[in-house]
Amino acid sequence: MTEFIRINRRLFLARLGKGTMALAVLGACGEGSGVTSTTTAASSTTSASPTTTTGSTSTTGAAAAASYLRVNLGFVSAYIVARGIEAAVVDTGVSGSEAAIEAALGTAELSWAEVAHLILTHHHPDHVGSMAAVLNAATAATGYIGEADLDNVTSPRELVAVSDGDEIFGLQVIHSPGHTAGHISLFDPAAGVLIAGDAINGSDGGVIGPNSQFSEDHTQALAAVGKLAGYGYETIYFGHGEPVMSNGAALVTQLARDTY
Ligand SMILES: [Zn+2]
Repeated sequence: MTEFIRINRRLFLARLGKGTMALAVLGACGEGSGVTSTTTAASSTTSASPTTTTGSTSTTGAAAAASYLRVNLGFVSAYIVARGIEAAVVDTGVSGSEAAIEAALGTAELSWAEVAHLILTHHHPDHVGSMAAVLNAATAATGYIGEADLDNVTSPRELVAVSDGDEIFGLQVIHSPGHTAGHISLFDPAAGVLIAGDAINGSDGGVIGPNSQFSEDHTQALAAVGKLAGYGYETIYFGHGEPVMSNGAALVTQLARDTY
């Protein structure tokens, strides 16, 4: 409970600071020029660079709907969650991926200055490889990682340790351990989106369970699949594999049944 309060106080302060900046940005650019949440068609960067695709997302809630951009880095993906003129980056790929992430921000008319959050699903090098570069570029961003993974990474500035039930930028933290002890997934109830990290993998438009070769604790990793089946979402974005755009929770529920 103490942890929960601490996190939310920090987030409040972060939002307060960001609000001030947002006003400054609008003032500088003029009314109406801020980035609005968008369902931009898929776009790609130059052929030499990894492609980025834009997922969709609209909700009818009062809060600005989040837009999701996948930064396809080859065998692993990072994501950008944009809400109005503020953004979160989720995972960072291997080292040297910051240019591709910056290009993806550009497709949403965002820059590092709008990145208020960097959320790391777990400590593996294909997810935190560009963490330092991203934090150095996004100077206003707060970094977050699951509590039990905190000691496995070295960051240019202090990361916030998060645990089950915390909320970051409208995303609910789900502790989904097993792949690593502190592994987290992110659930956006308003948009019906799950960012699974490596707790579940995408495969040919469907889902497959965690690979035992890469699990720190495979029994826990299998249990995490059952836990993730208990949330309501249509879309799933993975660390590895193609996104699932509909029927997500039903597919994970079936996977959990097949697994046990
Ligand atoms: Zn991993």
